[in-house]
Amino acid sequence: MQIPSLRVSVTHRCNLRCTYCHGEGAREVRSDRRLSPAEIERIVRAGTAFGVRKVKLTGGEPLLRRDVAEVVRRLAALQGIAGVTLTTNGVLLAEHAEELSAAGLTRVNVSLDTLDERLYFRLTGGELRRVLAGVEAALEAGLRVELNTVLMRGLNEGEVWSMVEFASQHACSLQLIELAEPAESSDFYRRHHMSLDGVERELKRRGEVLRRRRSPHDRPVYLVQGVRVSLCTSVRSTAGCSGVRCSGLRLTADGCLRGFRYSDSERVEVPGDEEGIKRAFEAALSMLAERGDELAGA
Ligand code: SAM
Repeated sequence: MQIPSLRVSVTHRCNLRCTYCHGEGAREVRSDRRLSPAEIERIVRAGTAFGVRKVKLTGGEPLLRRDVAEVVRRLAALQGIAGVTLTTNGVLLAEHAEELSAAGLTRVNVSLDTLDERLYFRLTGGELRRVLAGVEAALEAGLRVELNTVLMRGLNEGEVWSMVEFASQHACSLQLIELAEPAESSDFYRRHHMSLDGVERELKRRGEVLRRRRSPHDRPVYLVQGVRVSLCTSVRSTAGCSGVRCSGLRLTADGCLRGFRYSDSERVEVPGDEEGIKRAFEAALSMLAERGDELAGA
């Protein structure tokens, strides 16, 4: 089993309180320990021997870390790494865009579920204008920008085409994401989850197919109004909860390898020495293989 991409959470902390947030599968923060840029670099370098070619930085909110550009710079310079991307809520992006671009970031994914200020505040507790300023700054800094939009019934389901329009005006790509079910039963999920089938039908009707879904783990991609729109739908795991298709291996901020959709007890601590890191990757891969998980490349 090879790992095409590794999600690296650089912090558990966040500056927003999104009502629907799955916290990247980290429901329980176990320690305040945070890997240093050098430790992250060492682990990702070891990961290249297991196929890792792309790294996705996430959190928590990665831009809360002052040294986030150093993390990007170290990873982008690694032999075998073809791209480093970062997912952010965008609130602090205007301040970091230049340094992230200079550090070699390939693309920034900005979470933007609505263009309505009041709904944005209701969903996240944050200010929409700061995120929009972040998107502008990222584009000015020469970064590729992809917008991440989680679609929720009764909240932003009617905004698909205004998001496409916004992405078209700003030369961004767009990722439409199905709301993932949390491990604990959630009223929010029951009330607001929607299938993306109808949206997909409409994308097919209005646009052209750039990438077809060949297996359940594929993300189809459409070209609509000049915008690359990808769909990230949920898959059910054997552990009973669902997660978005970006399953696979992740490195937690406190230095553990784990799958996305499983309980917090299913994690492998990564030691500091080269041989220990290698064994941790092997153990994490066999943990995923035992559960029949597929490592998605997205
Ligand atoms: N703080 C950063 C941000 O807001 O983008 C990174 C962490 S956030 C957990 C990563 C991505 O997960 C965001 O794009 C967010 O919209 C998405 N996300 C959070 N909860 C989700 C859920 N329940 N279902 C689907 N996607 C979710």
